[in-house]
Amino acid sequence: MSEPPLHIPKSHPRYESLMIREKLIRGFREGYVAVAGLIAHGRGECFDYLIGERTIEPAERAIEAAAAALLLAKHPVISVNGNVAALVPEDVVRLAEASGALIEVNLFYRTEERVRKIADVLRRCGAKTVLGVDDATATIPELESERRRVSPRGILVADVVLVPLEDGDRTEALRKLGKTVIAVDLNPLSRTARAASITIVDNVVRAMPKLVNAVERLKGKPVEALKQLLEGFDNNSNLQECVKHVLRRLDELARSKLTLSF
Ligand code: ATP
Ligand code: MG
Repeated sequence: MSEPPLHIPKSHPRYESLMIREKLIRGFREGYVAVAGLIAHGRGECFDYLIGERTIEPAERAIEAAAAALLLAKHPVISVNGNVAALVPEDVVRLAEASGALIEVNLFYRTEERVRKIADVLRRCGAKTVLGVDDATATIPELESERRRVSPRGILVADVVLVPLEDGDRTEALRKLGKTVIAVDLNPLSRTARAASITIVDNVVRAMPKLVNAVERLKGKPVEALKQLLEGFDNNSNLQECVKHVLRRLDELARSKLTLSF
């Protein structure tokens, strides 16, 4: 625990990726990122390599649909866990402001201390209200984990829930309650990705700023135009396109020179 923070030179070829890891390690040391969150990040990085570490076209379309869903929602909620608080706290606050969504802390490995620390991170970024701290008094059925505990003003009554980095079980439980679930998940094959209503297959650090921009851009559009955008989106074919993207990319890579020259 006493290791000093890593100094990463800007010239490092994997600077961006190492900086992201650093943010998670810092969050872990500060006590609000779970050990399992570090493992989950590694899983995400693997899929990011396969995707090519950029926002692919199907993800751009999922972001548009997600923005429309948030703007059409009566009661949108952004669910925040440790990794999200470590990686994109400013974007969570900006998105809440742009879309009118409420912010709720919701943890798989819930401890009151972690919840409070995450709420503090969000408040330091300008969040005015953070649900799920003292008011996680309601429960959603079909879940064993601590994540069944939700705020009666937030996830319990939400019609649209954005769950960047979510677990499959919980996504399913929220869908069974009739909610529209928007997930951000680099793994197009995860249960989360397959159970969500709209899955953005992208890194949360790229997807969240783009989602904020999409909400700001679509905000003045007529309701009918937003509904059309949403109705024109099909999550199954979008996920298929993401998998096809990886297939094509791997096929191209398999024919090219992979070793580095020095
Ligand atoms: P599931 O329960 O959905 O089948 P899982 O058990 O593999 O999946 P969880 O730990 O429940 O995964 O959720 C973490 C998910 O988040 C993983 O699918 C992982 O690929 C993804 N992920 C991790 N880091 C990022 C990131 N920075 N951006 C987007 N997705 C990420
Ligand atoms: Mg899981």
